[in-house]
Amino acid sequence: MTFRNLGLSTELLRAVANQGYTEPTPIQQQAIPAILQGQDVFASAQTGTGKTAGFTLPLLQLLSTTNPNRGYRTPRALILTPTRELAAQVSDSVQTYGKYLTLRSAVVYGGVGIKPQIQALRRGVDILVATPGRLLDHLGQKTLDLSEIEILVLDECDRMLDMGFIHDIRKILAKLPPSRQTLMFSATFSKAIQKLANTLLKSPTLIEVASRNTAAEQVEQVVHPVDHERKRELLSHMIGFHNWQQVLVFTRTKHGANRLAEQLAKDGLKTTAIHGNKSQAARTRALQEFKKGKVRVLVATDVASRGLDIEMLPHVVNFELPDVPEDYVHRIGRTGRAGNVGRAVSLVCSDEYPLLKNIERLLNQTLAKDVIPGYEPTSIAQPGAAQPKRQRSKQGRSNRAKSQTQSTPKNTHKPTKAGTRPRKRLHTA
Ligand code: AMP
Repeated sequence: MTFRNLGLSTELLRAVANQGYTEPTPIQQQAIPAILQGQDVFASAQTGTGKTAGFTLPLLQLLSTTNPNRGYRTPRALILTPTRELAAQVSDSVQTYGKYLTLRSAVVYGGVGIKPQIQALRRGVDILVATPGRLLDHLGQKTLDLSEIEILVLDECDRMLDMGFIHDIRKILAKLPPSRQTLMFSATFSKAIQKLANTLLKSPTLIEVASRNTAAEQVEQVVHPVDHERKRELLSHMIGFHNWQQVLVFTRTKHGANRLAEQLAKDGLKTTAIHGNKSQAARTRALQEFKKGKVRVLVATDVASRGLDIEMLPHVVNFELPDVPEDYVHRIGRTGRAGNVGRAVSLVCSDEYPLLKNIERLLNQTLAKDVIPGYEPTSIAQPGAAQPKRQRSKQGRSNRAKSQTQSTPKNTHKPTKAGTRPRKRLHTA
């Protein structure tokens, strides 16, 4: 299978060749022809599958071949993303793949001045990439007209809903013409996502692909049981011992990210934190420095990390497990990309075992446990031990302390090699 077989124009084939892609990824093989035929699409695909090119390439082709000589340019395609970083990345992809076309694009997101965005919109755009909040600001100020949208893309829908954007999305939808092509991408299929899809999509083509970075294939996962208060020390030890040069570390809170970054810096490791409280400029700078290798450790919260495209990242560390098991999948999706094997390490203390259990249930896989000599947990609870029922709802981030366990081990845990069992929900063949 080649990009040429998918029916892409020479301009797009040239742009793809410039990127060095030789073969379309599974999602591209399925999504590109369906989108070119004008169908709605409902695709389950994580970051790392090549989904961005999967929708951007056919979108560019459709816009460049239909109705190309319109007058004043109100946007014809709208791509909504949950975060600023993802919006910026998608916008970069639009530019990269549209390099040999004359279509214009713009990106609007919060945290930066609105004036340059208004000016860009005034100059006229064909493709607009946006986060929901800032898009609504523009609609409110009447600096944007969405009445000519032909194609709507909802990227990382599950995260948009997790972040509470559903009302914003509905407000935006009300401004769009009903006759349009709609493409929905989501890493997970929750009931809320299905409901949204039912209201938005007309006879969609369903696409589910095995991610190139599925845990089973590309990411070695290991859990290191350790006491809570020794996690930082163990992390520094591992980075130094294995001489890891580029590590993405996840914490649950902004405060935790800052504190850990400071402590690691004191250990002599060049570290930066990115989270929602940092300005857009600071987040972009931190990411660039990390990508260039100027910063060795990037500490991030889930929201800040969403959609980050960091190629060939060899190590992801869960300094704390996420409350929402799907976030674990998103986190480890940062490694093992583009066919490279990555390693996802989780430092897990006793009160996190219920979270670990939920993650293992979602993965349908028991993660290998490996106690590092010298960092043996002193707590009596062990992974695999019976846990009290969790009190918390899926989103109940603040109640973590309630799920602490005092139980004694029942089962002797036998480590299972990661990726040896079938996984649920994350892929189909
Ligand atoms: P995405 O899932 O869209 O975030 O893409 C993940 C990464 O895969 C990006 O760095 C893309 O540049 C890269 N990529 C996309 N399509 C291909 C392809 N056909 N071959 C190789 N790499 C690709």
